[in-house]
Amino acid sequence: MHIVAIGGSDAGISAALRARELDPTVDVTVVVADAYPNYSICGIPYYFSGDVQPWQSLAHRTHADLEATGMRLRLDTLATRIDVANRRLSVRDAHGDSEIGYDELIVGTGALPAFAGIHGLDALGPECGVHVIHSTGDTFALDQQLKDRDPRTAIIIGAEYVGLEMAEGFASRGIRVTQLQRGPEVLSTLDPELAVVVHTELLDHGVDVHTGTTVKAVEKTATGLVVHAQYAGEPVSHTADLVLAVVGARPNASRLEDAGASVGAFRAVAVDQQMRTGLPHVFAAGDGVITHHRLLGVTYPPLGTTAHKQGRIAGENALGGQARFAGSVGTQVVKVFDVVAARTGLREHEAAAAGYSPATTQAIADDHKRYYPGAQPINIRITGDTHTGLLLGAQLVGRLGTETAKRVDTYATALFAGLTVEQISDLDLSYTPPLGSAWDAVQTATQEWSRARHPVEVPA
Ligand SMILES: Cc1cc2nc3c(=O)[nH]c(=O)nc-3n(C[C@H](O)[C@H](O)[C@H](O)COP(=O)(O)OP(=O)(O)OC[C@H]3O[C@@H](n4cnc5c(N)ncnc54)[C@H](O)[C@@H]3O)c2cc1C
Repeated sequence: MHIVAIGGSDAGISAALRARELDPTVDVTVVVADAYPNYSICGIPYYFSGDVQPWQSLAHRTHADLEATGMRLRLDTLATRIDVANRRLSVRDAHGDSEIGYDELIVGTGALPAFAGIHGLDALGPECGVHVIHSTGDTFALDQQLKDRDPRTAIIIGAEYVGLEMAEGFASRGIRVTQLQRGPEVLSTLDPELAVVVHTELLDHGVDVHTGTTVKAVEKTATGLVVHAQYAGEPVSHTADLVLAVVGARPNASRLEDAGASVGAFRAVAVDQQMRTGLPHVFAAGDGVITHHRLLGVTYPPLGTTAHKQGRIAGENALGGQARFAGSVGTQVVKVFDVVAARTGLREHEAAAAGYSPATTQAIADDHKRYYPGAQPINIRITGDTHTGLLLGAQLVGRLGTETAKRVDTYATALFAGLTVEQISDLDLSYTPPLGSAWDAVQTATQEWSRARHPVEVPA
């Protein structure tokens, strides 16, 4: 059997590894548009901050590691067309056009940076100092500009996960950062009551944050790059040496679409939980496809965690397996300087839109016993369903070192298991004073939610 995977990132490589792991006799070819298979895109901001050097250390596995698994890598090879009926993939490399036959195909072509209709972003490009950040190629282009032109000022368009990480990366190098965000607060995936903590952290580190600012166009002038925007209905402009646009990702699914695959939410390819596209012998995984969500049904959160899992399932099922993607609950975390912000599940408005009866409470709980030095508060918002008592979501913001990321994982596990808010108090969580409390911060916050729902009646 010959399995062909398109894409050398989280989804494509996970699929290839899984297939070879389950059946070391299967022939696996991975077709990769560039020369950098299995690089950690998620680590790019830490290359720019200087925390991770050299860039080669961003490789999850080296070329030799991958080949040692028995997979064949076709690097610098662009997949151009899928012939579903004849199970042939057209490719283009330095030698020209050719075809590869397959028995089963797995498409992991991922996502591309979005431009959000901002005029000039696409046209100006890296040679003019206008960058996006998604691939190794984008990384090299930005790195080259930083080395060659030593920009002192940068505008980052967007203040979501990646934009915030890049703000830290630039600031760590001494670049003065202006961050422009369309919404009323940074990190729109959190309630503003918590996102404001991230905003303050940015200001404390010298980032000039402008919320409520909708960027319309980027222009190159004699004095630098000018970003034209609207703030409160009025035109405003900001100037810098470099512009980085981080305004989202769009599925890179054209090969599948051209082959006749159905497209779902956010123009991502529709797949079932076995990662089947509906086209015979064609699976797909990662940022190009929709994601099954345990609370919402279907969503599109382009995340590395999801791409790895989906790729593994596609690899198993291409061999004839029956594995199913169990679903995401939308767990995400970001470090912004010395603050960690995390969420899992749904926020109140998302839960209401999905037909739940949500209510949200906020608690502040210490990360460990206050008498032990270094205790720090964690802000936690809990959303639960008032009819069923089920946990629907949690959002947390704490200082670095408060184990905020691992605490969100407890809520994610509870969501996966379908626990009620009350049941979280029954969880046997660890405790020692330097690291926690007898009632962990996770439980202090859910108990606050329960108290608000069922206030203790004091006799008159
Ligand atoms: C800066 C940054 C930081 C991030 N941080 C996090 C994080 O902390 N946590 C998290 O969970 N997620 C994070 N993400 C998201 C995560 O990186 C993606 O969800 C993940 O990389 C998706 O993997 P993928 O394999 O689906 O697609 P991609 O990573 O987009 O890879 C697509 C692959 O397909 C190849 N390809 C595309 N078209 C073709 C073609 N026609 N022919 C051949 N090959 C092709 C590309 O060369 C590439 O190898 C981050 C993303 C970015 C940009």
